[in-house]
Amino acid sequence: MARQLTGRIVIATHNSGKLREMRELLAPHGIEAESAAALGLAEPEETGKTFAANARIKALAAAKATKLPAFADDSGLVVDALGGEPGIYSARWAGPGKDFRFAMNRIQTLLIERNARAPDERRCHFIAALCLAWPDGHTEDFEGRVDGVAVWPPRGARGFGYDPLFLPDGFDRTFGEMDAQEKHGLPPKGKGLSHRARAFMKLADACLKRRD
Ligand code: IMP
Repeated sequence: MARQLTGRIVIATHNSGKLREMRELLAPHGIEAESAAALGLAEPEETGKTFAANARIKALAAAKATKLPAFADDSGLVVDALGGEPGIYSARWAGPGKDFRFAMNRIQTLLIERNARAPDERRCHFIAALCLAWPDGHTEDFEGRVDGVAVWPPRGARGFGYDPLFLPDGFDRTFGEMDAQEKHGLPPKGKGLSHRARAFMKLADACLKRRD
């Protein structure tokens, strides 16, 4: 049985878009969450070769530094025609200025160089690896994925990162055009839509008590 999460935790991210979504997902479970940035924690170097490895690095660093359970997300956009890029380097593609218009343009330029114009040549998916880590080094790991197409031009000003580029399968609105509830797509209305919500549903099932 997975270890249960209770009480106060730290969210091991300095990314405000992720922080907002992680808080929204935790809120119905009554978990009080502080952010790593608010606690003045340094961002550890993400030296892992997988999303899961990087999520563990971030969660363990925050749990050890704060002596609290920590919750980390490592995620990114995987574009099939680009051999899986930007993948674990999704944040780095936006450069030090975190310019995601620039990163989306780079994806589009590379896709056009490969003559990838039709939707089936522009397949991509988001992955989220979530890790809960405790100060004693115990971890619980979960992964979620959502498949779709990289549209051009980007659409919508909501969300963060690559949201305006990503059209999830079965929808006619990009993540950038969806509000938070629609992007999460949580039950009872949906079955979980975003990669982060899908991973979080597994985490909640395993590690969070229901508050009915
Ligand atoms: P990292 O996990 O901190 O390495 O950063 C992952 C990067 O992937 C983020 O900075 C975003 O650019 C991108 N990303 C991850 N999840 C999402 C999402 O839900 N929407 C849009 N972009 C995302």
